[in-house]
Amino acid sequence: MALLQIAEPGRAAAPHQHRLAAGIDLGTTNSLVATVQSAVARVLPDLLPDMEGSPLVPSVVRYLPSGEARVGREAQMQQADDPANTIVSVKRFMGRRLADLPDADALPYRFVDRPGMVHVATAAGERSPVEVSAEILRALRTRAEAALGGELAGVVITVPAYFDDAQRQATKDAARLAGLTVLRLMNEPTAAAVAYGLDRAAEGTFAVYDLGGGTFDISILRLSKGVFEVLATGGDAALGGDDFDHAVAHWLCNAHGVASLAALAPREQRALLMAARTAKEALSQSAAAEVTLTHPDGTIWQRTLSRAVFGTLCQPLIDRTIAATRRALRDARLQSAEIDGVVLVGGSTCMPLARDAVRGLFGCEPLADIDPDQVVALGAARQADVLAGNANGDGWLLLDVCPLSLGLETMGGLVEKIIPRNSTLPVARAQEFTTFRDGQTAMSIHVVQGEREAVADCRSLARFELRGIPATVAGAARVRVTFQIDADGLLAVTAREQTTGTEAHVEVKPSYGLSDAQVAAMLREAFDTSLDDMQLRALREAQVDARRLLDATETALAADAALLPETELAAIRQSLFGVAEALEVGAPLDALRAAAETLSHATAEFAARRMNASIRQALAGRTLDSLA
Ligand code: ADP
Ligand code: MG
Repeated sequence: MALLQIAEPGRAAAPHQHRLAAGIDLGTTNSLVATVQSAVARVLPDLLPDMEGSPLVPSVVRYLPSGEARVGREAQMQQADDPANTIVSVKRFMGRRLADLPDADALPYRFVDRPGMVHVATAAGERSPVEVSAEILRALRTRAEAALGGELAGVVITVPAYFDDAQRQATKDAARLAGLTVLRLMNEPTAAAVAYGLDRAAEGTFAVYDLGGGTFDISILRLSKGVFEVLATGGDAALGGDDFDHAVAHWLCNAHGVASLAALAPREQRALLMAARTAKEALSQSAAAEVTLTHPDGTIWQRTLSRAVFGTLCQPLIDRTIAATRRALRDARLQSAEIDGVVLVGGSTCMPLARDAVRGLFGCEPLADIDPDQVVALGAARQADVLAGNANGDGWLLLDVCPLSLGLETMGGLVEKIIPRNSTLPVARAQEFTTFRDGQTAMSIHVVQGEREAVADCRSLARFELRGIPATVAGAARVRVTFQIDADGLLAVTAREQTTGTEAHVEVKPSYGLSDAQVAAMLREAFDTSLDDMQLRALREAQVDARRLLDATETALAADAALLPETELAAIRQSLFGVAEALEVGAPLDALRAAAETLSHATAEFAARRMNASIRQALAGRTLDSLA
C-alpha cells in the first residue's frame, strides 16, 4: 500500500463553490466526523448540550421493537439492559460469515448465518452489519450537516490497512445506504500520518501504533519522493482497551472474593465493565481512581485503583502490543532505531503505560499532540477536502495500492498474475489469452487473489464466462482480459474477444469473509513457499504441455493412422500410453518430461508424413481448414 501525491490543477474550486466534505473514522468502538474549515481540520462535536459536546459517537446501535434504531451514547447506556438488541463492535462483522467469527457463541446476539455476510436478528428485524454501520454513518452525517449547515458533497471513510475487498466493499455499501457519497476509502494509519503532515516531509520511515477499544494495529510506513508505502502491518485483532477493562473488573471481583467476572449476572458484568473503563480512563490523568459496583441487593463493592496496581495488572497486555510491533519491524526488515517517528492512534494510547512502552521500544518521544482519538478522522478530513476540490493551490491526492496480487486461473490450475501486489491505485492492466482446444467457443474466467502460484492456494474472487468466441484452432483466438481497480481497491474485470468484439464483464463483489489474519497468513505463505511454488509451476506447465501433446497426437492418429506402418504406430501408442500414465499418476517433473520427450520423438516422422499428405490433399483441391 503506497500513497502517491499527484497534483490535480483542474480540481481546485473557486472559493464561493466550497463543497462540504468530511472525513469519517468509522471505528470499532467509537466513530467521529471531521472537516476542514479555513484550512484547519477539526472534529465536529455533538450539538446537543446533554451530550457534553463530545466528538465521539460510540459505535453502538440499539434496535427497538418499533423498528427504530438508537445510535451512540444513548444506545450504549442501554447496552446492559438490552444486550441482544444493542450491537457493539459491528465493524468486526463487516464482510464476515458466521464461520469467520470465532467468539460468536460468547456474544449476546442472535446471529443468522446468511450467505455472504452474517446477519443479526433484532427486535426490529434481521439486520446486516452493513445496515448497522449505515445507522452509525447516518448519525455522523446528520451531525455534520447540522454543524456545517448544508448537505455533504462527499466523504472519506477510513478502514484498517488490512481490510480486504469484502470489508472495503461492505464499508462502501454502508455509506451508500446512509446516503453518503464516498470520495475515497483511506487506510487508517495513512490518515494518521497525513494528520501530522508527515506526507509533507521529503522522506522518512514511520510507525503508526493504534491501540483502540478492541483491536491493536501496528503499521510501518515509508515515505519517499511523495509516496507512502506500507512496509508491514501487524497487530492483534483481539487486543484493545476492552481487555484492560476486563483486567480491572477481574481485579475488583478478586478483591471481593469472587473468582471471576463470569460469576456475576450479565447486567452486573456490564455495569462493572463500564465502571472499570471509567476508572481506567481517569487513571490516564490521575494517580488513582475509584472502582465502584452497586449490586441489585444494595451491597457496594469499592476499591481504589492506583496506577501502580493498574500497571501490574495490565503490563502483560502492553507487552503483547510490543511483541507484535517487533514482529512488524522484523517483517519490514528494520531496527526500531531506524524509525523516524511514531504516531499514536486510538483512545487506549492515552494510557501512560502504553506511551512508556512505545517510548522504551523506539527510544524517542511518540507523536501524540493530536488527540489520538481524533487523529484518523482529522487526516481523513484533509483528504476529503482535497478530493472535494477545496484545497486551493494545494491539490495533492493520496493514492493507495492493492495489498494482494490479482490474477486469473490458467490451464493446469496455475495463476497468471495480472496486477501485482503493491500496484498503485487506480490501476488497469490487460493481458491476452487464447483458447486451449480446437473449436473452443467459450472461456471460463476465474479471478483469484493471492501471492501463490497455484489457484488452490489463492482466494477465489469471481468466475464468469465469455461465450461467442469464433471456433478456430487452439491458440488462434485472442481474448483480451482487462483488470481495473478503482481508487478504493474495488475490481472490475472485462474479457473481450478481439476479432468479434464479443465482451463479458464482471464487477468483482468478492465473496465476503477473509480475515486479516488470513491475509497475513497468505502473504507469509507466499514468501515461505516461493521455492515450492516455482517447482509446482514448472510441473503444472509441463502437465499442460503434455496434455496438449497427447490431445494433438490422438487427433492426428484418429485422422491419419493409415499413413503409419504398423511398427511405428505401435511405438507411438506405447509412448502415448507412457505420457497418459505419467499424467494419470501425477509423475514428478523429470519423469513427465522424459515421457513427453519420448512421444515427441516417436511422432516426429509421423508429423512430417502428415504434412506431406496434407499438401498433397490441398493440391487435390481440398481446403486446408478441414485439416486443422
Ligand atoms: P476504536 O478505534 O476501536 O473505535 P478508540 O480509538 O475510540 O477505539 O478507543 C477506544 C478505547 O480507548 C476504549 O477502550 C477506551 O476506554 C479507551 N480510552 C479512551 N480514552 C482513554 C483514556 N483517557 N485513557 C485510557 N483509555 C482510554
Ligand atoms: Mg480506531
